[in-house]
Amino acid sequence: METLKPLERVNIKKAAKILLKSKNTIVLTGAGISTESGIPDFRGENGIWEKYKPEIYGNIQSFLKDPSKFWKMAEEIAPNLFNALPNSGHLALAELEKMKLIKAIVTQNIDELHQKAGAVIVYEVHGNINRFSCLGCRASYTKQQILNKLKKEKGSTPQCDYCTAPLRPSVVLFGENLPNFEKFMSIDLAKKSEVMLIAGSSLTVAPICDLPVYTLKGGGKLIIVNDQPTFLDEKAEIVINNKTGTVLPLIVEEIKRIKIKREIESNQ
Ligand SMILES: [Zn+2]
Repeated sequence: METLKPLERVNIKKAAKILLKSKNTIVLTGAGISTESGIPDFRGENGIWEKYKPEIYGNIQSFLKDPSKFWKMAEEIAPNLFNALPNSGHLALAELEKMKLIKAIVTQNIDELHQKAGAVIVYEVHGNINRFSCLGCRASYTKQQILNKLKKEKGSTPQCDYCTAPLRPSVVLFGENLPNFEKFMSIDLAKKSEVMLIAGSSLTVAPICDLPVYTLKGGGKLIIVNDQPTFLDEKAEIVINNKTGTVLPLIVEEIKRIKIKREIESNQ
């Protein structure tokens, strides 16, 4: 607890109380929750988009013209991304789900770390790295198959075994729309939610940064846990500018403490 300021400790207790009281909480997560798992923020300082310009390496039009650039970048980041493990922040959110205190996790991340941590209802608005598909015949490939292809055919674009067309990831590339189901589901959840817990998102990427605005408009509250300020800090009920891997487990701990206390009191 030594990295926490006194106000942060107070806010952790407040957040725990709000989450316990709320009947409809959803979570929104961004890159910040995964940096502690060794996945650098693509948009951050020294992030992948600084080295590889997104309009060349991550854009759908350039991908269709020449997928080799995307795959050159992917070869560098894939092993780290595929093998990353969930951290205490992901585990804490999965625990909140088990305790039935959150309805869903909406994430901007493609790394599947929420699922690896045990969370079940996860809406991945930017897709994920679990599946890859052929641009020609739509055959589908697992990430292990892709890793094997990248290892075997170093420096080349992974091709379909059946029709030799290039393969693409099931992530949303620049210039592409968000998947409809995830998009409408997350907007609907945001509108109805009593509380939105924002963890590790700087709320800079559209249209996801609008989700908390729907919650506010519907009379809901925001709890923001992020190590950097966001444009909605002033409108949030609680803001804790610290690491999600530190703060989220402490919120869960506090919730458990309150529950035990209430149980003892009700038995007296
Ligand atoms: Zn094919």
